[in-house]
Amino acid sequence: MKKVYSFPRGGILFEDSTVTPISTFHDGSWRWSVLAFFRNIWKSEHPLISIARKGLNVFKASAVVQRDPVSQTETQPMLKPANGSGYIDSFLPVLSVIPLTQNNGVKTRRLVELGDTVREGMLVGKGEEAGAANIHASVPGTVVRLVSWEMAEGVMNEGVVIRLGGNFERSGKQEAPLPWNYLTSAELRKRVRDCGVVEMEGSGKPVVETLMEFDNGPKPLSLVVSCVFDDPWRVADYVLCQEYLESVVEGSAIISKMCGAEQIVYAVSSREQSLGERLIAESAKYQIPSAHVSVGYRYPQGNHRELELALRIYEGQENVKLGRLFIQGPATLAAVRDAVVLKKPLLERFVAVGGSAVRKPQVLRVRIGKRIREAFNECGGFVREPSRIAEGSPLSGRRIANLDEPIGKTTYALFALLSKQVGGKVTRSCIGCGECRLVCPVGLDPEVLFKRIELRVQVAPWVFECHGCGCCNVVCPSRLPLSTLVTNAAILERKKNV
Ligand code: SF4
Ligand code: SF4
Repeated sequence: MKKVYSFPRGGILFEDSTVTPISTFHDGSWRWSVLAFFRNIWKSEHPLISIARKGLNVFKASAVVQRDPVSQTETQPMLKPANGSGYIDSFLPVLSVIPLTQNNGVKTRRLVELGDTVREGMLVGKGEEAGAANIHASVPGTVVRLVSWEMAEGVMNEGVVIRLGGNFERSGKQEAPLPWNYLTSAELRKRVRDCGVVEMEGSGKPVVETLMEFDNGPKPLSLVVSCVFDDPWRVADYVLCQEYLESVVEGSAIISKMCGAEQIVYAVSSREQSLGERLIAESAKYQIPSAHVSVGYRYPQGNHRELELALRIYEGQENVKLGRLFIQGPATLAAVRDAVVLKKPLLERFVAVGGSAVRKPQVLRVRIGKRIREAFNECGGFVREPSRIAEGSPLSGRRIANLDEPIGKTTYALFALLSKQVGGKVTRSCIGCGECRLVCPVGLDPEVLFKRIELRVQVAPWVFECHGCGCCNVVCPSRLPLSTLVTNAAILERKKNV
């Protein structure tokens, strides 16, 4: 049995993938007042209580969030496929909306006009500013509209609408892999930049820009491949790892060469022991030392900060030197491989579509630019009007204002929740239950911060420690938007200091 390295405290354990932001038990009922009463006794300084507390401290490291059973009666949960496969190749949309703005809000320069004919993979938006990556037509066809729309957070996006037509020049055809060993780091980077590869697991930042941050600085440097499935909505990455493991490993070898990493660390959730072993076996093809580190699967273990904490524990206990960590996810690495080995732009991705309102949750392989409405329709549509639709994880996802918005390069999950799963919108007073403190992975006390924010007294520097994991929101029985309040307070404090 491999030793497991985990971040030291807090977090949430999702027992399966029927994710709900608030458990049905967390309804602010009398049960929580009773619990709060006993908790206050527990927190008291009576010597007997102190002894009992010490004995039970070991259990404080994790909190299990109960699932909302309602969704199971309505739909199939988003189950992780038992054999690792189980994705569906999504229908090609008649109309694709190719977004010209990344989710980080940085625009590209549009290169096509109304009526232009575009080929599959043709450059339609040029990334010129910092943070902007090239955008390509995911389907062949004709540009029939130029559109703009406002996203939920108020950011304006622009896009080109392509009506499907003509031949696919690449899809479905065998392409000979190009050798890359003889290429320099600069030549490899050019291919990755040209193909518009971004960090697909969240930030949407061009990979080449992140690489530049590691160009100077102390050695050693380790590439960390994050295969941490702490959030069940990462199931699309899981499927990709199982189906395209060779691409993930080759992409890791390529990016190691690009950044000059001395070693590759495959950080894999301890539940996925066999995946770690397969990654290591495949990596033997390449001339770079590789290690499989088994890490925890409590959310937010996959966040870079918690992952780094776990790896520093590994470093200390195993007496290895990892140095600086360049952390990337499997989807990005597979895209890097396709860019270098096939000169293939980023045109599609795996997306998990589910939630209690979705009739048939599944993982789709989708062309960038497919409209979100069509992805839900392909999963059987909604059982009832959803109360919340968002992309990403229910813990930290982005609300979708319009179902005609397209799937972008960083859309790893789409979910639609019924009202019972979302819970009521009414917030109540803090009952001092301490749940938020228990789960905070960085050791903050969100209850105290919330009260300080309300009283407008000093909250710096503590709020800067928060990284918005959303754990405190999930467990708060009073439904207080703690994470949002703390992260907003941090933004205000930073502005004050400018
Ligand atoms: S205070 Fe911040 S870091 Fe702590 S649980 Fe809440 S969101 Fe996460
Ligand atoms: S803010 Fe924290 S202590 Fe207060 S009710 Fe919510 S979880 Fe409990």
